[in-house]
Amino acid sequence: MNAPRAPLMPLDDALARLLQAIVPMAASDTVATFDADGRVLAEDVVSELQVPAFDNSSMDGYAVRAADLADPQTLLHVTQRIPAGHTGQALRPGEAARIFTGAPVPPGADAVVMQEDTQTLDGDRLHVRAAVAAGQWIRRSGEDVQRGATVLRAGNRLGPATLGLAASLGLAHLKVAAKPRVALFSTGDELVMPGDIAPQDMPPGAIYNSNRFFLRALLHRMGCVVSDLGIVPDTREATLASLKSAADHHDLILTSGGVSVGEEDHVKPAVQALGALELWQISMKPGKPFAYGHVRRASTAGQAHFVGLPGNPVSSFVTFLLMVRPLLLRLQGAEVPPLRPWRLPAHFVLPKGDKRREFLRARRNAAGGLDLFPNQSSGVLTSAVWADGVVDNPPGQAIAQGDLVNFLPFSEWLA
Ligand code: AMP
Ligand code: MG
Repeated sequence: MNAPRAPLMPLDDALARLLQAIVPMAASDTVATFDADGRVLAEDVVSELQVPAFDNSSMDGYAVRAADLADPQTLLHVTQRIPAGHTGQALRPGEAARIFTGAPVPPGADAVVMQEDTQTLDGDRLHVRAAVAAGQWIRRSGEDVQRGATVLRAGNRLGPATLGLAASLGLAHLKVAAKPRVALFSTGDELVMPGDIAPQDMPPGAIYNSNRFFLRALLHRMGCVVSDLGIVPDTREATLASLKSAADHHDLILTSGGVSVGEEDHVKPAVQALGALELWQISMKPGKPFAYGHVRRASTAGQAHFVGLPGNPVSSFVTFLLMVRPLLLRLQGAEVPPLRPWRLPAHFVLPKGDKRREFLRARRNAAGGLDLFPNQSSGVLTSAVWADGVVDNPPGQAIAQGDLVNFLPFSEWLA
């Protein structure tokens, strides 16, 4: 009789253990703010100035003294013109300044009237046709950012809005975490690269290597420098040699396939021979054959992290998002945000939940609910293309029409 199988580790435990093992890289780069999209800040950004730097008009119109306009019949004398990028003179009682959006409000003025609410007479006489409150249409100095404020924290993953904010503080360069160096290889004697053999000439049993394409794209999106080591044959020697050479100059070795239980699966024993395996097999579907460990370096000190992803494309894709993405964020010193599911109604039925936590490929429909892709097999990559996210379904949970379920949109992970 076989020994009873140890229960598989729950995903949250596996992720917590994996993240515990990752020490953020010490190396950093200073890059042009223009080139910092997707990089992770290595130091806090503290503002050296107020934004806006000066009180300015948020309208095209006239700068006035609100107290002058208590009587609606009052005519003001337009004495100056202040376009954006220019400064005016102090405004005296009874005067108005023609002003444009972004121009500094002159001393003495305490409100801006939009030009649609005014009428000019004799060229320089101004009649204001609406009530005016002190402070209106003025953007105050420092209302966006105060001098000395910490505007962005180390660990922030920079995106378009944060780059704009950094630029508004005058920062042309930013200190960011170094890019993780990742060695990527695919295992499997059945794999053929697109372009090497035409579809009509594919030998029996051969398939195209699809994992290599989406994994490379995912790694690039996560800010990595990728060394693509191609396809490694299913032998112990080739697997050992590839792992050994990859460990020296990379922070992470990422493989797909060959981490299951068959005797053609050489990755697991090879990692054990060259380092250690700390996690193997997770209670999730798809994605059970996931492995995490490290490979010792031969020529330099230290070790490279190792992640073995399942060979089945959908398993590989989903485990990358759930496990490798957090690992890469942490390596770069970035915050690893918890999953933030949307609660959405199922417009489908799942008669019986799997015993593992399941990530079902689904997509939002126009009625505000979720449709399920009919074929949830881990080899069906079409499901990941059709879907715009996954339903995170607890073990053993059946789903009835209309049940609120946890939906994780791909868009949040792929940004
Ligand atoms: P394995 O984990 O190596 O047993 O592979 C599981 C399944 O995934 C098999 O059907 C493989 O042919 C398939 N597979 C493995 N690697 C890839 C890949 N790079 N691209 C597409 N399918 C793959
Ligand atoms: Mg294989």
